[in-house]
Amino acid sequence: MSPLVRPGLDQQALLQALRDALGAAHVLIADADDTLERHLVDWRKRYQGQALAIVRPADASQVATVIQLCARFGTSVVPQGGNTSLVGGSVPDATGTQIVLNLSRLNRVLAVDPANLSITVEAGCLLATVQSAAADAGLLFPLSLASEGSCTIGGNLATNAGGTQVLRYGTARELCLGLEAVTAQGDIWHGLQGLRKDNTGYDLRDLLIGSEGTLGIITAATLRLYPRPKGQATALLACPDMSAAVALLERARYHLDAGLTAYEVMAHLPLQLVQQHHPDVARVMATLTSEDGALPAWVILLDNCSNESEVHAQQRLQALLEQAMQDGLLTQATLASNASQRQAMWHLRETIPLSERAEGLMVKHDIGVPTSAMAVFINDTEQAIKARWPQARIICFGHLGDGNLHYNVQAPPDQSSGDASRAFEHAVNEVVFDHVQRFHGTLSAEHGIGVLRRDELVKRKPAVALSMMRAIKQALDPAGTLNPGRVL
Ligand SMILES: Cc1cc2nc3c(=O)[nH]c(=O)nc-3n(C[C@H](O)[C@H](O)[C@H](O)COP(=O)(O)OP(=O)(O)OC[C@H]3O[C@@H](n4cnc5c(N)ncnc54)[C@H](O)[C@@H]3O)c2cc1C
Repeated sequence: MSPLVRPGLDQQALLQALRDALGAAHVLIADADDTLERHLVDWRKRYQGQALAIVRPADASQVATVIQLCARFGTSVVPQGGNTSLVGGSVPDATGTQIVLNLSRLNRVLAVDPANLSITVEAGCLLATVQSAAADAGLLFPLSLASEGSCTIGGNLATNAGGTQVLRYGTARELCLGLEAVTAQGDIWHGLQGLRKDNTGYDLRDLLIGSEGTLGIITAATLRLYPRPKGQATALLACPDMSAAVALLERARYHLDAGLTAYEVMAHLPLQLVQQHHPDVARVMATLTSEDGALPAWVILLDNCSNESEVHAQQRLQALLEQAMQDGLLTQATLASNASQRQAMWHLRETIPLSERAEGLMVKHDIGVPTSAMAVFINDTEQAIKARWPQARIICFGHLGDGNLHYNVQAPPDQSSGDASRAFEHAVNEVVFDHVQRFHGTLSAEHGIGVLRRDELVKRKPAVALSMMRAIKQALDPAGTLNPGRVL
């Protein structure tokens, strides 16, 4: 529900007050400029909104002023970072009454504290900027996503982003030590701190992380840094089935311990699509294919890091893989022998979404299931889908190390457009989420709820949890100023 601004004078008065506060150049009116379209349409081009204005404050105090003005005029605000949300969380609704609060001008690296292994940055910093500021200090900021050149750290925290290094370093939540944020009343909460321990009451930082802009506007963050590993070994592995992939993961956890930083899985169908649409990229799998050119059932991409040396990283990984081959968990293994081979292996993984896109519409899921239940989940869900839609295609890949899969389903050709496609999406969601629930999983492991999963959340989250969530929203934002209609 978005509180409506009274048309006419009130809208003009709000716009004038915003111009007075930020300068006219930073209050953009969409009608006047088509280049503003990118602020109004989501990444997947599923949601097209309208805005009264797109405002670009320069600092936390201007963010606070924007929120105070919007609260006073009774209009709502949609916080926006890089607008890479995959659930429609960062674009306005269709009413044309909301203000898009774009954080891109809050883009300063404020401080690096090597002795405390921390960095403090403004929320509009690109994730790639935070990574390189850490690297310049000889340290590592490990959050890593395919969208890192476009997404902002504020958006990463607001969605509790995951990515490829969660297995070792955790999600954005685990990487955050302190926050500065603006409340729904326009007050600034100064919570920037580099402490590892602080038990002084409710954890407001954790409340804001993952709240998708519905409880406060993140304006800056203090983040954990890590020593950069001295060596890295990467392998591409052919696995006969999901049970073997899970068994190898368990062994790798014990054998490699904290060295295991990534454990990605790719089923043969997404790999076939890469072969078809990007044959150059697929060449890195040459040693994993059988004599007749068939791809393995599953391919695993594994990273092992070492704080000692490259050789140490390689040796430990090799020992693990030799034993796994002997025990039948693997049928083939290729170890990258240099940085460009490592990049080629990761490029294979990163090219799957592109290859998928070339095949047309997919019903996408970003589900999480305990790894111990993964093999049965994969088997049962596939059987249920194939029993109902024999021609549907399942494109499955993702972060197996975190129990998080991108489980995408393409409709049979006769249900791939119009009403039939919408009906298919609804029905296949039901099947996938029913199975996720049966295996005590989650309907969103990474991307969040936004608009896309809101109704599903209400349907599937326990009533007590929903009621606590609603109480928190009501307490912090009773007027519904911040990102209404998202999450709840
Ligand atoms: C190619 C691609 C790959 C991706 N890969 C991954 C992945 O591996 N793992 C993963 O977890 N996600 C992934 N994502 C989705 C992910 O959510 C985003 O990339 C990122 O975390 C969002 O950052 P953003 O700055 O673009 O935020 P936006 O998209 O602008 O906003 C996301 C949400 O946060 C809110 N928000 C934004 N900034 C703030 C702020 N400063 N304060 C309060 N609320 C705010 C918005 O209102 C919205 O609800 C991917 C997306 C793309 C396009």
